[in-house]
Amino acid sequence: MKAVFVTEFGGVDKLRYEDLPVPELTAGQALVKIHSCGVNFIDIYFRTGLYPAVPPVVLGMEAAGVVEKVAEGVLDLQPGDRVAFGTVRGAYAEYAAIPASQLVKLPGVIDFPTAAASMLQGMTAHYLTHSTWPIKPGDTCLVHAAAGGAGQWIAAAAKSLGARVIGTTSTAAKAEAARAAGCDDVILYTEQDFAAETRRLTGGRGVDVVYDSVGASTWEGSLNSLRPRGMMVSFGNASGPVPPVAPLVLSQKGSIFLARPKLFDHCLTREELDGRASRVFEWLAAGTLKLHIDRVYPLADAAQAQTDLASRKTTGKLLLQP
Ligand code: NDP
Repeated sequence: MKAVFVTEFGGVDKLRYEDLPVPELTAGQALVKIHSCGVNFIDIYFRTGLYPAVPPVVLGMEAAGVVEKVAEGVLDLQPGDRVAFGTVRGAYAEYAAIPASQLVKLPGVIDFPTAAASMLQGMTAHYLTHSTWPIKPGDTCLVHAAAGGAGQWIAAAAKSLGARVIGTTSTAAKAEAARAAGCDDVILYTEQDFAAETRRLTGGRGVDVVYDSVGASTWEGSLNSLRPRGMMVSFGNASGPVPPVAPLVLSQKGSIFLARPKLFDHCLTREELDGRASRVFEWLAAGTLKLHIDRVYPLADAAQAQTDLASRKTTGKLLLQP
């Protein structure tokens, strides 16, 4: 089968689009024939080695397809089932061996591209707005990179829960996409001091929660955008990882809270995974988020897809087609 993987960490030149054996199943797994897979920033972290993994590393954490076969003892899936996943690596390929416990059965109305565009970022938006900081009506939140894949989902989810949503984007065109996703206000953080602007927009109070996936370049400003006892949710590193932090900083910024969550730890049981995924499918059905699939690339062009994502050229979702 064709797959995209790295044997050495580095730039997109390290991506190899080559033949690999179809994965052998181990206990508890199902073999999925992949129809569509999502491109996410985490794929770049695994390519560069920011997130550790033992080579060869087949990239991609999110895909939708059809169960081809199951390992002995897997009782809740069978060949022909339409499924998707968003928490297991190995999606940039024609086939992936995935623990059955991490596969979600797709409702008939959800097609493969929609599922591959929604599992990872949609469930992320769900846990961030329901578990990390459960949004209450009247909360104000700051969502960085609000026109991006995860950002649009978070803005839409927070808005649907009754929050006032302030987004940041790099360009005016992206600001339009962020507004369409649910942002009430958008700050061009490449042109304005977003912390000062956030203070102005909140009458000096600051926001209840910051959802920060940008990392190094927004860290300080995000802390300065919070109200006393607000929540700083640092959940990504698009501009680079946040340097080590002294706990005393949290006191100095107003007794704020800091969370550094990831999706996998929020889909630990079948009930939790199915609960989050079905809520995402409900959001799609209700039009809470109008899914924006920006570009679809052949699997062979994974390097181009990652280049476009990293160079801030994209809004919404990118997909690969094996
Ligand atoms: P996006 O589609 O959001 O793309 C990243 C965006 O980040 C860019 O479009 C850009 O928006 C912004 N950005 C700001 N600074 C930079 C920079 N220096 N280089 C590149 N981009 C920059 O990607 P994803 O939706 O795939 O992921 C967004 C973030 O969310 C990532 O950090 C990812 O790791 C994180 N994430 C974390 C999860 C978790 O559970 N912890 C799960 C899912 C995603 P603009 O041009 O508007 O500035």
